[in-house]
Amino acid sequence: MSFSKEDVLNALRHVDDPDLHKDLVTLGMIEDIKTEGNTLSFSVCLTTPACPLKEHIETACRNAIAHFIGEDIDVKILMTSRVSSSKKTTAMLPKVMNIIAVASGKGGVGKSTVSAGLASVLSKSGAKVGLMDADIYGPSIPILFGVQDAIIEMELVEGKELMKPVMAGDIKVFSIGFLSKPNEAIVWRGPMVSSALKQFMNGVNWGELDYLIVDLPPGTGDVQLTLVQNLPITGAVIVTTPQKLAVADAIKACAMFTMPAVNVPVLGIVENMAFFEPSDQPGKRYHIFGSGGAKSLAEQFNTPVLGSLPIKPELVQDGDEGKILNAENVKFFTEIAGQLVRQIAIANAHQ
Ligand code: ADP
Repeated sequence: MSFSKEDVLNALRHVDDPDLHKDLVTLGMIEDIKTEGNTLSFSVCLTTPACPLKEHIETACRNAIAHFIGEDIDVKILMTSRVSSSKKTTAMLPKVMNIIAVASGKGGVGKSTVSAGLASVLSKSGAKVGLMDADIYGPSIPILFGVQDAIIEMELVEGKELMKPVMAGDIKVFSIGFLSKPNEAIVWRGPMVSSALKQFMNGVNWGELDYLIVDLPPGTGDVQLTLVQNLPITGAVIVTTPQKLAVADAIKACAMFTMPAVNVPVLGIVENMAFFEPSDQPGKRYHIFGSGGAKSLAEQFNTPVLGSLPIKPELVQDGDEGKILNAENVKFFTEIAGQLVRQIAIANAHQ
């Protein structure tokens, strides 16, 4: 059987990206088509290595080739990725594709835990990830990764002296905690935060990153407002527990991001401590903090719930021991990260 590259493209024009609602050929995702006799190979270049639809898209491509060209073709598909970028971010930091702010209305709802978990699974998927701990009230990221004793080194980059991020595995970490002594109280005001944060952006050698996750301080005061107005944020993730009190504060956080002067899209809600499932009663869920709060918040701001994280006492110990990502937690964070990267790709396609 003989077929041309054009035949392949015509077949793949019938495969849509489920999120971007356009076909893979129009989106420029099909690369390196090679045909020889009965064999065909090509690459599908996705918008992120963490794409949860990878297998679905690959199967759809195989089905289209079989249906429109022939069943007996030997097809090899290489699934690759080039992370899509946010114009807002790359204008200021050309080598950083996306800055994702993780925020909450209230402290203690698990914002840092979620930031660390997301950074870890995105990095494991093959993405280049940075994690900036901007939680001036309680910088806990260094502890979660066991790098609290790191000493910041300087390095010369293109004639500029920059601070070297601390490596936690493959993740580049920088924390406001690295610059202050433990137990040293710093009273931050809006303008101080914005100038410190600008230093974090421009004074740290972040290099090339697909995702820079920023763990913001909780709340919606002057400090937070200054911060979100000054960072070129691609989008925000709001963490809440199902508790009414937490959701009431999360509404304020969503409102802050969506106010016209800020105009940062809320990419989704993460519901933390959603339920407790005792290990000796699988399937039995106790909704200790109530239920439905994240869903109603998401509906109010026309944004998805990216996922739910159960109450896991091991998370506290793992966090304290600098091992945020154990096998049990990976599955929850992977699901949340998968939904998040889909929302980022959609936001970038529509800018
Ligand atoms: P925040 O950044 O919102 O202040 P943290 O991520 O520091 O919150 O979490 C607060 C505390 O709650 C930490 O001790 C953390 O280990 C714990 N924690 C967070 N999420 C969970 C969870 N799903 N199950 C159990 N403990 C959790």
